[in-house]
Order: sequence, then structure tokens, then C-alpha cells
Amino acid sequence: MENLPNCPKCNCEYTYEDGSMIVCPECAYEWNPETTVDENVIKDVNGNILNDGDSVTVVKDLKVKGSSSSIKIGTKVKNIRLVPDAADGHDIECKIDGFGAMKLKSSVVKKA
Ligand SMILES: [Zn+2]
Repeated sequence: MENLPNCPKCNCEYTYEDGSMIVCPECAYEWNPETTVDENVIKDVNGNILNDGDSVTVVKDLKVKGSSSSIKIGTKVKNIRLVPDAADGHDIECKIDGFGAMKLKSSVVKKA
């Protein structure tokens, strides 16, 4: 049997292959080892690694869909939640005062 990598989420060593994917039996995480080397690492605009619960600052004005107002540069966002496999590239979930629950791209924030 091939030597498969440990699960990147829970470090379980009993991972197995399912087609091109590797599956973790402990936490049910699946990933493709060829395309997702750094998938779980989300970095801010400066290349700093972000973590769940971090506070960040928005680095450019952002239009908000369905709203006439925009999120201004310098807006502080507390307690972010990372979404590593976001299909649309919005890999941060958060709440912003005055806007409520939002999704942001990590490329428009910096670690506070
Ligand atoms: Zn796992």
C-alpha cells in the first residue's frame, strides 16, 4: 500500500484513496493531493496566514451586493471564519457592523 499523507484537518493517519481523492475516515475530509497542496492555508493581502477567530482590516472599498453603501477601507472585522474550499473565492465568513453576515476574499483584508 502506498504511503498516504495524514489528514490535513485532524492529522489522522488512516487516510485512504478514493479515485483521485484522499479521504479521512475520522473527520470525513476529502482532498485531492495533486491540486490542493496549500488548500487549508488562507493568507491575507500581505501573505500572513489567517486563522479562525482572527481580526482583520479591509484594505480596499468593497461594494456590497444589494446595498447602496460600501464597506470602507480600514473597516475592522472581528472573529473571522475561514472557508478553505469556497468555490467562489470568498474564503472568509464574518459579520460586519451595519452589514451583517458577509463573505470576503482573503485578498482584500490584512491581519489586524
Ligand atoms: Zn481528518
